[in-house]
Amino acid sequence: MGADGLNDEVRVVQPGAARKRYLCPACDGFIEPGVFHYVVLPDGIVDLRRHWHRGCWEREAHRRGISPW
Ligand SMILES: [Zn+2]
Repeated sequence: MGADGLNDEVRVVQPGAARKRYLCPACDGFIEPGVFHYVVLPDGIVDLRRHWHRGCWEREAHRRGISPW
């Protein structure tokens, strides 16, 4: 992940597009299918993408001082 996160690529996953269950790296909780959330690609690297809860990512973005998306 970029040190400042500024090069991270963030994608919104709409409920209709969320078909799997994911583990959020921030809280170690599951993101259930059908839940709006974010996918974050560190430095735009697809293989390193992680799925975040909406609230978890927005807190993290705020902590880093960046826009959530
Ligand atoms: Zn979370």
